[in-house]
Amino acid sequence: MPGADGSRPEAAVAPKRARYLRQFELVERVRSYDPDADEALINRAYVYATAKHGSQKRHSGDPYFAHPIEVAGILTEYRLDASTIIAGLLHDTIEDTDATRDEIARLFGEPIAELVEGVTKLSKLEALGEQEKQAANLQKFILAMSKDVRVLLVKLADRLHNMRTIRHHPKPESRRRIALETLEIYAPLARRIGMDRMSSELEDLAFAEAFPEAAAAVHARLEALNAARGDAVARITQTIAETFESAGIPVRIYGRRKQPYSIWRKLQRKSVQFSDLADIFAFRVVVQADDACYRALGLVHQTWRCVPEQFEDFISNPKPNGYQSIHTTVIGPGNVRVEIQIRTEEMDEFAEVGVAAHWRYKNERYGFDAERARLGGVDPREAVRSLLEIAEHGGDSEEFLEHAKLDLYQDHVFAFTPKGLLIDLPMGATPLDFAYAVHSDVGDTCVGARINGEEKPLRTQLQNGDTVEIICADEPAPVPGWASLTKTGRAKSAQRRLERQQRQEEFVRLGRDLVAHALHRYGHDLADTTLDEAATRLNQPSVQELFAEVGEGTLKPEDVCIAAFPALAARIEQETSRAPINPQKARLYVRGSGLTPGVTMHFADCCSPIPGDRIVGIHERGKGIVVHTIDCERLEALEGGEGEWLDLDWTENAREHALAVGRIRATVENSRGVLAMLARIISENEGDILNIRTVKRERDFFDLVFDIEVADTRRLTHILAAMRASRAVREAERVRG
Ligand code: MN
Repeated sequence: MPGADGSRPEAAVAPKRARYLRQFELVERVRSYDPDADEALINRAYVYATAKHGSQKRHSGDPYFAHPIEVAGILTEYRLDASTIIAGLLHDTIEDTDATRDEIARLFGEPIAELVEGVTKLSKLEALGEQEKQAANLQKFILAMSKDVRVLLVKLADRLHNMRTIRHHPKPESRRRIALETLEIYAPLARRIGMDRMSSELEDLAFAEAFPEAAAAVHARLEALNAARGDAVARITQTIAETFESAGIPVRIYGRRKQPYSIWRKLQRKSVQFSDLADIFAFRVVVQADDACYRALGLVHQTWRCVPEQFEDFISNPKPNGYQSIHTTVIGPGNVRVEIQIRTEEMDEFAEVGVAAHWRYKNERYGFDAERARLGGVDPREAVRSLLEIAEHGGDSEEFLEHAKLDLYQDHVFAFTPKGLLIDLPMGATPLDFAYAVHSDVGDTCVGARINGEEKPLRTQLQNGDTVEIICADEPAPVPGWASLTKTGRAKSAQRRLERQQRQEEFVRLGRDLVAHALHRYGHDLADTTLDEAATRLNQPSVQELFAEVGEGTLKPEDVCIAAFPALAARIEQETSRAPINPQKARLYVRGSGLTPGVTMHFADCCSPIPGDRIVGIHERGKGIVVHTIDCERLEALEGGEGEWLDLDWTENAREHALAVGRIRATVENSRGVLAMLARIISENEGDILNIRTVKRERDFFDLVFDIEVADTRRLTHILAAMRASRAVREAERVRG
């Protein structure tokens, strides 16, 4: 905030306080900018905080309550409303004392309870790990959790006071961790909402703690430079002031040394000439009106030669956090390169305190001035994601405070691994998305999830702050129904790939079994057979592909046998073209009282009777006798027709000698070894597999059709029963035709 002389303090050096702010001092500070502030409520909060923290002590030996009081004091520097000041006083009570949210709501009202609860939630993050890659995510998380921007302001003030007193912390490794976290998370957050003064102080305190040698080196060089150039700074300031005075443009000028931390960061990127003032100092020219900015710029460029690539206009093109200023570097007085920043008073204030600049009196109320925020900042309609856009939603200041939500990351959800790694996901993401965000191996083997310690279905949508533990299987496998259980493209494509891969593997496995079986039937062993040539002959790029095609049912195993052993062609052709029972031999197998010698007789295609089936003959004049099973569906249509119905039976010959082919369709589980198991069932029941085909495949099940040569229906019935008894078989039916 402006000092008595209208100048602004430099990035402050922490004032050494022997004591903390007294109750009346705090109240006075608030009333200095908001005379209507609820004095009684502030007093009550002050007393409540000191009573609750009681005899707790800080590392410094100070009473603990000195901390929340100082935090409230920092917040008054930003002229925040009484609710925020009170939240500062109470910010550690829920976490560190027996105070509850309900009690705070009862004593201080719901809005303040909400602020305190928000800060408490953020404080829990401080126990997290320190992986660097988490920093950016953690920032977003904090923003997402700070539904009300005041929560973030209290948190930043809390951190600032902790940094000011960090030297009292007894553990060096904790001091370093906190300092690094401040550099990586809190200082950038403060800058994100335009609070440059806060950000600079946080950085310089943390820099000295985290990198003491580097900080000392930078300070030493700056001191040396100051000694050598000190007069130059004053002279340049003077020259600039005179130039503007004679042009009749009223300005306020001050030189500001760049922060040690930002110099150090620059040093890491490029070799900065310490003697080069432009890298060390910025001269601020603060004018009275917007249009004066460009007149001032014109004057600067007229007077001194500019360094073209060093010019930036953040007035017509503000930074995302709302920062506005013109930056230009010129070969200034005495032939020294200097950076000159031109801005209005309003822009200057905003550059220092950012979003906090918009708390002020308006319409006889103290609060957030949305309109001024809009005027002073970016065009909200363009800066979709900027904080200032949010200002547009509030009609007056009270209303804005209701809606002052940092919704920059509302389409995100942030969840944690059990080890505290923060995972950034789109809203609506599920544990499967989370698993893939952690690692593709975790996603590929994911079979379940525990959310906040409780096992939850994979369709559960994750909430901000959830801790998610993924339950993994030993082997990668797609999750059934994954399409509706995934939100991220990464998870979807990975699951799709997994499914394809698994299907491919199964096709290959099944195809190999089918080929092995067919070869065996014709006296060959797969183990002794080289199929490379057969694959080429069948236009398959590899034996694997060949198996896959057979498994998928697009290639018959018999064709593979013929390709491998061309001599088998004739025999295979004959056998596979065999009808369920040789229709020409019906006379030999069927007998009945009404049979007339000389009339042709054959088995119906629709039901393909085999010995043992109960059968009936339909004799139609001119067409001969057609033999159906008694349960054939076609019979109904023939009833009452011209045909004469004949009771038929099988001959001894049929029962003893005729082999018949029965067809079974089985729906089996998609699991390893299922085909070998079915083949065993069939052979144990004296059946002989002539042909196997896959006809239909789903994710978890597939349909197989077996043509089995059996002596009679009884054996076929045994095979059916045995198949149905198997756990891997969902359904098994005899099919006709
Ligand atoms: Mn605290």
